Amino acid sequence: MNTLTMFGRPACLSCRARIVTLVRVRYCSSTPTRSGSAGTPTASSLTSRRPGRATRTRLPDKPARTRFAPSPTGYLHLGSLRTALYNYLLARATNGQFILRLEDTDQSRIVSDAEDRLYKDLEWSGLVWDEGPDRGGPYGPYKQSERLHIYHEYADRLVEERKAFRCFCSQDDLATHHQKALDSDGTFGTYPGMCLSISEEEANDRAAQGEAHTIRFRSSPDPVPVNDIVYGLYKKRLPEDHFIIMKSDGFPTYHFANVVDDHLMDITHVVRGAEWLISTAKHVSLYDAFGWQAPQFAHVGLLVDTNRQKLSKRNMDIGIDSYQRDAIPPPALLNFAALLGWNPGSLSNKGVMTLDDMTSKFDLKFTKGDIIVNMEKLAFFHKKHIRLALDDPSPENKIVEDYLTIPVAREAAKIESLRAAKVSTAASESATQDETGPSNYVASLGKLLLQLPSLGSSKPDTGSSGAHERIRAMLRISRSEAVAAPGIVEANKFLIWQPADSYIQASYPRLSETLHNVRIEEVPKSIPEVLDFFIDRFSQIDNGQWTAKTVQQALDVTVKLVVDQEEGKKPTAAGYKYLRWALLGLDNGPQMHDLVEYLGKSETIRRIQLARSIASSPY
Ligand code: GLU
Repeated sequence: MNTLTMFGRPACLSCRARIVTLVRVRYCSSTPTRSGSAGTPTASSLTSRRPGRATRTRLPDKPARTRFAPSPTGYLHLGSLRTALYNYLLARATNGQFILRLEDTDQSRIVSDAEDRLYKDLEWSGLVWDEGPDRGGPYGPYKQSERLHIYHEYADRLVEERKAFRCFCSQDDLATHHQKALDSDGTFGTYPGMCLSISEEEANDRAAQGEAHTIRFRSSPDPVPVNDIVYGLYKKRLPEDHFIIMKSDGFPTYHFANVVDDHLMDITHVVRGAEWLISTAKHVSLYDAFGWQAPQFAHVGLLVDTNRQKLSKRNMDIGIDSYQRDAIPPPALLNFAALLGWNPGSLSNKGVMTLDDMTSKFDLKFTKGDIIVNMEKLAFFHKKHIRLALDDPSPENKIVEDYLTIPVAREAAKIESLRAAKVSTAASESATQDETGPSNYVASLGKLLLQLPSLGSSKPDTGSSGAHERIRAMLRISRSEAVAAPGIVEANKFLIWQPADSYIQASYPRLSETLHNVRIEEVPKSIPEVLDFFIDRFSQIDNGQWTAKTVQQALDVTVKLVVDQEEGKKPTAAGYKYLRWALLGLDNGPQMHDLVEYLGKSETIRRIQLARSIASSPY
């Protein structure tokens, strides 16, 4: 196969269609001579066989070939990502293929950089497609605008077979007709049929002389039924009009190109938004006219907001790039999108699924009707996928790197520069008091514990790779709910910086006022004495033995020995209170043994010693 590389993937030079090649099946015959072979059921014969819902929603036994067929008219948004995902899952779950096809026949709507953005957004999402299999024949280019000769040949064939006709009506003729219809019954009216009676000879002559015309499909006078996996048998009240298949600019209409391509690419299943259901009768008529087997259709519910308004740019159906800006990891967005219309039955783990989980569970149980999008679920999946990524031991895990360590290191570097600026302005008192906003904790920070990358760098350099490891370790023990870098840094500030001496000093009264009669093994102790006790116990652990486990063992013994008793009440264990004050200024943080292991022996003892000296002369 003649290949080039696009976005790091091999791409065919001739068609550049990218399909997931899980099983190699032939596709894309570009000759119009092929017709439904004898015995091949036609679309209408298929629709008359009506399988029950349970059968319809089962995965096919054979590999499915699906496609994502966006028009490069704007951004990839939540609804289209969901469509791509369902088609991807169906292909993967059946060891089939997932093809990307750009439907760009409406040239007036094409946005210049939309195509590149589309590739980038799909790459980001992790939905992989690949180059088409070599089937020993020429590929058509994957962009519809580059396949015009194919649509012409197929349209001509329908004309020859009198299943379509050339229409020479001008825009003005049609506009007059529409206006009349509007005035009489308030509808747009159907095609008045002026050109139906033009003889084939005359029509061909006029076309050969270059007279502008469209090609219209000669529709059946009866409504055509559609068999849909989600909606069952669907039939419109009225028949189709004699709709246009080739426009006067020489481009096919969406309906025509879509059907020809789905056939030539051997598409077995079309999963798309419910807004296309009303067009499907046209598609089925075309399949019938050619004698082709129609793919199976599944029209998935429209996405609506909580007020049941169709999602739009203004109400959440924002481009995938905005989810990227919000640093939502792709698996979280895919998990969220998957459950907007697919119902995998009983949901274990509250519906948290990786792409692999979704693939193994996938079936065609789509929900019928509108789907309300609840953004809180996205926040939930965000948290869950962050946790999954952190629990994944592989250091190359891209999610941890891209969505946690790099942004956290950057945020920490930003805060560090604020802190350094504050220190260099000689820490004027007002400067420590009047902080608001995300950096209001800068004044509580002491010396930086990590070697951070310089601001703006996105990849760990040699100096910062250790920092990335430390950040990973910190994230693993963090009990904060924060998923975005600013919240993570703030919640774990004393794992990144030492607490400022002044901060420990200022929090001292909060410790002392909660203590009453503190004793160790029945001997009354002052606060510095209790701290000495911990320093002594921690000093006895060898550096090499400093693990969460040994620390926990030491804590188990020591912490319980420190007892406080309020007048007339039962004694309570008080050891943790001292440590939490000395190590974090009483702030929330990880579990004590995790924290102490993370800080290491010397930093732990340093903090307790400092706290001890503050407690010895607190004011
Ligand atoms: N180009 C159409 C779209 O933009 C494709 C619809 C279909 O999947 O058939 O959504």
